[in-house]
Order: sequence, then structure tokens, then C-alpha cells
Amino acid sequence: MTTLAQRLALLQNRIETSCASNARALGDVQLIGVSKFQAAQYVIEASKLGITDFGENYLQEALLKIDTIGDKTLTWHFIGSIQSNKTRVIAESFNWVHTVDRLKIAQRLSKQCPSNKELNVLLQVNIDNDPNKGGVSSEACADLVSQISKLPQLKLRGLMAILSQDTDPRVGYETVAQLHRELKETLSPELRPNWDTLSMGMTQDLEQAIAAGATMIRVGTALFGPRE
Ligand SMILES: *Cc1c(COP(=O)(O)O)cnc(C)c1O
Repeated sequence: MTTLAQRLALLQNRIETSCASNARALGDVQLIGVSKFQAAQYVIEASKLGITDFGENYLQEALLKIDTIGDKTLTWHFIGSIQSNKTRVIAESFNWVHTVDRLKIAQRLSKQCPSNKELNVLLQVNIDNDPNKGGVSSEACADLVSQISKLPQLKLRGLMAILSQDTDPRVGYETVAQLHRELKETLSPELRPNWDTLSMGMTQDLEQAIAAGATMIRVGTALFGPRE
């Protein structure tokens, strides 16, 4: 049986190798452990091995887990699709939201975010125009970036992408990185330093994502093993 510590060691080796061969600093790539369908106890075990950031897709499951674990030092990332009637609890319970793809959702998150915190958000981009997944088209990104960047409680940090099965990750992630560079110009100069995040890369393609410039990789299977 493979243990969590063994999987983590293999994963860290993959990340280190990719960073080294692409002249990227190890500290510039944040690992997010995607813990959907994994038990709270397993997440606690991962946190004891040094994982600080966790990603969850399903709200009810996530809320229960965050509460059970009760560790305020952990950083929680919402990476699932967002229903507009759930924005309040998302804004209250998470530190980051990766899956913002329309203005209405961003406005609600900003309005409902507790006044003592700033919510980090990423715009999810549907780079391959796959109708089966969320995300804004590349063409619509610039308008949305300029609108969202004006919302008071949100800190717009960059882009998130999930690639379709039939998109070559080498090409797909380069396209996202290129868009990320171009969009910086749509922000007012004082907001540009916040535009520092590219969330892309999962178990099967994290190498290509790191090569293209990912600053956050979202890894489930390679860390926790297969999901139930
Ligand atoms: C499940 C999921 C992941 C992790 O996928 P793995 O292939 O298990 O690494 C990453 N990002 C999102 C948005 C997910 O839903």
C-alpha cells in the first residue's frame, strides 16, 4: 500500500524536476491538495506533512470538512461550479475562489464577503470553448477583468483553467499564460501587482502547466490516491 507520505514525496519530486528544467523557483508554484471525496482525517494527515492549501468542489462536503478539521491556519480554495444562491457561504468559508466566470457571481461574492476580509478570486477561462464546462471565453475576459477589479471586497488575482481532454496541455496552458500576460494591461496600474496567479495543472499535466508558468497547481489523485 502506498502511503500519503510516499505519494507526496513522488509528487514533490515531479514538481521539483519541472521547476528545475524550466528555470522556475520552487517557491513560485503553490501546491493545492484537491481533497474532494477525501475524508477529513486524511486532510489532517496531509496538513501534518506540510500541505497548507486545499481545494474543494462540492460546497456541502467542503463546509462539513472545514468545520470538522477546524484548523484556522489552513487555506481553503473553492474550485467547483458556483450556484448564485451559495455565494454568501462561499465568501464566508473560503480564502480563494477559482471559478468566477460571470459578473453577477463576482458582485454577490463582493457584497456578501465579511467586512473583515478580502476574498481572493480568479477568473475561470474556457480556453478551448468546451460547452461542457464553465468559464468565460477568452474574448470576454478583458471586460470581465476590468469590471471585477472594481469590486471592493474582491482581490482579483489572475486566471484559472481546466483543459478539455482533447486539448494538448502544452498548447492549452501556453495559451492561458499568454492571455494572462495580455490581460494585465486591462487593469489600472495600482491593481497590477495583485495580478500574480495562474491556477492550472492537475495530476496528469502538471509538468506542462509549470512549464507554461502556473503559480498554483491543483492536485488530487497524485497526492491522495484514487477518489472513492
Ligand atoms: C478534481 C479536480 C482537480 C484534481 O484532479 P486530479 O486529476 O485528481 O489531480 C483539479 N482541479 C479541479 C477543478 C478539479 O475538479
